[in-house]
Amino acid sequence: MRILLGLALTLFFFGLKAQKTYLHCGHIIDVEQEKTLDERTIIIEGNKILEIKKGYEDPPKGAEVVDLKDYTVMPGFMDMHVHIEHESNPKRYEETFRKNDADVALKATVYCERTLMAGFTTVRDLGGTGVNVSLQSAIDRGYIVGPKIYTAEKSIATTGGHADPTNGVKKSLMGDPGPKEGVINSPEEAAKAVRQRYKNGADCIKITATGGVLSVAKDGSGPQFNMEELEGIISTAKDYGMTTAAHAHGKEGMLRAVKAGITSIEHGTYMDEEVMDLMIQKGTYYTPTISAGKFVAAKAKVDGFYPSVVVPKALAIGPQIQETFAKAYKRGVKIVLGTDAGVSPHGENGLEFVFMVEAGMTPMDAIVSATLTPAEMLQIMDERGILKEGLRADIVAVKGDPLENIELLTDVQFVMRDGVVYKLK
Ligand SMILES: [Zn+2]
Repeated sequence: MRILLGLALTLFFFGLKAQKTYLHCGHIIDVEQEKTLDERTIIIEGNKILEIKKGYEDPPKGAEVVDLKDYTVMPGFMDMHVHIEHESNPKRYEETFRKNDADVALKATVYCERTLMAGFTTVRDLGGTGVNVSLQSAIDRGYIVGPKIYTAEKSIATTGGHADPTNGVKKSLMGDPGPKEGVINSPEEAAKAVRQRYKNGADCIKITATGGVLSVAKDGSGPQFNMEELEGIISTAKDYGMTTAAHAHGKEGMLRAVKAGITSIEHGTYMDEEVMDLMIQKGTYYTPTISAGKFVAAKAKVDGFYPSVVVPKALAIGPQIQETFAKAYKRGVKIVLGTDAGVSPHGENGLEFVFMVEAGMTPMDAIVSATLTPAEMLQIMDERGILKEGLRADIVAVKGDPLENIELLTDVQFVMRDGVVYKLK
């Protein structure tokens, strides 16, 4: 029986390897050269791009052909800030006490699928409970459908900080969370928390460098780590080859994180020119999350959607992000697309393109910020981010020209990930 199974698997493997798909593409956006190429054939073998040829190449017998002659074809999009485990709703706070990991995981399978169908073939998950690592593994093994996930597992905070998991809980349930739960109060604990994340299967590290909007705490923007703690986190992450991301609204927390060598600043709400110039100098990336800013500002006006301590923070911080993004883009800070989906709804990730272009970004730069730049930030340019021979076949397409009409990217019509077609309409 075992031999038969082995044989079947071998045949399946070789069968898969031999399977070729020919994509006849009317237009391709070359994100490296920043231009559109006409009439190309992308030949895919297994999960990789084998060749890209001029014109419409005839397929050999047995190969599949997908007619994308009326489409503009691009590398699969990457969202550099999602929380794949959850989606915000008025019951989100009490759900922490009612939902088991299995409940979270089963619900999240829907979010994974929605994200992929929106054309986002890769995401960076910036914090959950640890179910995110299981979701990543289930997608990698083909049990469920979703994007490639790079995850931070559970965010790291200081006591009472934005990602302290017991904020707002009654004292008898508060306990004293430590590095294992992602709460640190010294450089030693910082190193331990990073090593614990590594042990738990994280690919990158997320910290909450300042207060945040949705935590049950008064302050939304003050710094929450000292320099020694930040250096402890970032240097330990580097030891394990992990990149780092800092949630930050206020200036001082941002400045400290950038000085300590953080890979990316998330939200960056009150970023000023001093911070921008330091980011340019240090090569720090910026993930604006305009989608989340707009979402929380709108929902803060709905009675009972958020706890009362959250409402004033959401009203102040939410609308500011798009304005800050416009200034940072103009000044030349490196931008990666990120929505904070999970705060805003999963599957609407494409709206971020529209918000960035609305704020002055060119459509080409917006597409580059969701393909080439994130691949560079995550150091996965040999795998994803561009359409090139030898890279993963993560490919999306829309009918028409997104450089003329950016809104087309909110309705992606063709999705291929790892050589498998998930959507064609
Ligand atoms: Zn977030």
